[in-house]
Amino acid sequence: MQVIKRDGKIVNFDRVKIENAVLKTCYSLEKKFEEKSLHEVGSKIENILLRQNNQQVEIETIQDLVEKELMHIDEDLAKAYILYRNKRNRIRRNSIYQQIDEMIQAKKNDLTNENGNMNSETPSGMISKVGFESAKEFALDSLLSLENRMAHERKDIHIHDLDFYLTKSLTCIQTDLFKPFADGFNTSNGGVRSPKRISTAAGLAAISIQTSQNEMHGGQSIHAFDFEMAPYVKMSFDNYYKDSYKFFFGDELKNVDVTVEEYEIKNIAEFDGLDRVKQHAINQTVKETRQAMEGLIHDLNIMNSRSGNQVPFSSINFGTDISPEGRCVIKAFLEAVDNGVGNENKTAIFPISIFKVKAGINRNSEDKNYDLFKFAQKVTSKRFFPNFINLDTAFNYNEKWDINDPNRWYYEPSTMGCRTRVYENRHGEKSSVGRGNASFTSINIVRLALKAMKSKKTIEERKEVFFAEMDKIMSLTANQLVERWEWQKTALAKQFPYVMKYLAEYNEGIKSSDKVENIIKHFTLSIGFIGLAEALVALTSTIDSEGNYVKGVHHGESDEAQALGIEIVRHMHLKCKEFSEKYDLNFGLIATPAEGLSHKFTDSDKKMFGTYEGVNSREYYTNSNHVPVYYKCSVNRKAEVEAPYHELTPAGHIFYIEMDGNPLDNLRAVEKSIDYMLDLNIGYISINHFDNYCLDCGSHFYDRQPVACPVCASENLDITERITGYLVGSLDKWNRGKLAEQRDRVAHM
Ligand SMILES: [Zn+2]
Repeated sequence: MQVIKRDGKIVNFDRVKIENAVLKTCYSLEKKFEEKSLHEVGSKIENILLRQNNQQVEIETIQDLVEKELMHIDEDLAKAYILYRNKRNRIRRNSIYQQIDEMIQAKKNDLTNENGNMNSETPSGMISKVGFESAKEFALDSLLSLENRMAHERKDIHIHDLDFYLTKSLTCIQTDLFKPFADGFNTSNGGVRSPKRISTAAGLAAISIQTSQNEMHGGQSIHAFDFEMAPYVKMSFDNYYKDSYKFFFGDELKNVDVTVEEYEIKNIAEFDGLDRVKQHAINQTVKETRQAMEGLIHDLNIMNSRSGNQVPFSSINFGTDISPEGRCVIKAFLEAVDNGVGNENKTAIFPISIFKVKAGINRNSEDKNYDLFKFAQKVTSKRFFPNFINLDTAFNYNEKWDINDPNRWYYEPSTMGCRTRVYENRHGEKSSVGRGNASFTSINIVRLALKAMKSKKTIEERKEVFFAEMDKIMSLTANQLVERWEWQKTALAKQFPYVMKYLAEYNEGIKSSDKVENIIKHFTLSIGFIGLAEALVALTSTIDSEGNYVKGVHHGESDEAQALGIEIVRHMHLKCKEFSEKYDLNFGLIATPAEGLSHKFTDSDKKMFGTYEGVNSREYYTNSNHVPVYYKCSVNRKAEVEAPYHELTPAGHIFYIEMDGNPLDNLRAVEKSIDYMLDLNIGYISINHFDNYCLDCGSHFYDRQPVACPVCASENLDITERITGYLVGSLDKWNRGKLAEQRDRVAHM
């Protein structure tokens, strides 16, 4: 017997398809349906059809029969099936049309605002959004197994970047610029020669970021910017030296063999002879480096890439090059961040700058780059950046790192600004260079806790249910990531020509028609989680004598909850290690940044379980393992609670604090807090505060969530704040969950 589908295609009859559809309906009702009864429905319909003795039957006929049959068994189920059937029909016919309609009427703010840094109202933004939505639907319909698709649609898990799934693209990469710059490189629009001075090198760094951004769906991070730019500072110096030598002495110099101790501008009138030539060249080099860094930051804030209107998600790691040229780059870069961009000197949204802190290099007062570490803290007090990555934690340590090795940068970890961390590698060297994340999926752990809470009374019983559910959903997630990886690895190198040829490690001898499997096995597969705080509140909740729910506590509120929190996250971490062994791939646990996700899980859990104070009573779940943004506690307390989670989340973590008032007044407090955080072995740190700018009178001020300008009372304000690792200029691009979260944030100092 054959079935005629809606599109006219003819396929063989398969009873299991009927059973799957019914099963899906049960899921939507949170209803249990015995496998036996499921098979009964399937075979009953099969028998009816066989009795009718038709060679071919239309799909609609089969669905009518299922409806009738379900009516006998369970009326609710039948109704749900009808709903499901209608919904599928509607979706099939016009879900894309519907979404387009909503988009052009700007009704669906959450749809257009999924990504804090993308303006979906511009023509290219809208047109790409239409493409994204279609691509997402195609992936769900055609590329995912039913089980994975259902887990995603039910919001048990969230598969990130589904819109890019079909392209086989990877999330992100940490870039080593030495490779593309050594011999020059090609983009789709033309070839680029190897740079010969710092201004060119910095310009090409921006081009490199833009080019790779177009081949991936996540961010681009420069691994060791100071080391990578240093040679070009020296080239600029040599050029200036030749010029000024000719100016002062009239002769052409072939080679320059001069060492610079420190790139510092001084009055050349104080120097004579060759010293004067040298100082003049130093002055010019410093000026050019400053210009270059300022230009780079401007480029990274205005250049559009991917889908035409998205600024690249760029991150720049630096801080550990102690050579005079490296120091010159770090200083000029920090000065440029400090100065801000545009006519109003606004805080630059990009790049995310990350200062690498390491004892012996910059951490302590006797260290060569200590002055730059101090300067970085001052800049972050004003500009939110740089963030700080702590190279001295046990998990960031590399036994091959040696201060006398000029290539030691290779063994230093770097990070994506958003927090994604790629370092350990079961197939090669422990290094971030030329590697990135292949894909990641987050688990809704609040749902597991709610299930446990609803089914059991004591915490011990609840834990049993919770961990059993956890293991199930983690295995499913691992399978899903592998399913995607199996798809990604079949991409050909020419699909990501720049990334595969110039940036990726382990690409020796790869031809454009080769599959990328051997390169991307060095990338990571990450499992993330949302809402540890809310899960703990659910698990530790109790029931009073009248049978009412009594809210529990999160890890900021009690030591027992904290112990359970660590137990949960360690369990997930160890599971990831198991998966790494099982699949021979780099699995890791990530403390998920929940940008587009923050209200989706919550909405769905409210429908499924009802609303529980402290668990799903707000519009969002707390990011990963953080204490809730509305929980008032000191910086030190927050740091003590969150620190232990960093070693358990090797695929990425961030610790941030919220500050009130003008941060420059708080500089001492910032310095003390950063020291304290570093001592607690926190891996990655950022400081949040406000930079408000009045669009009418031009005043800068630093209040939390201001309504009007304190100088001229204008309400025409530009507010810069951080969401999930990235800064955004104004709040009107945020989605609902994030807006609610932002309203609830309290300061820690
Ligand atoms: Zn004003």
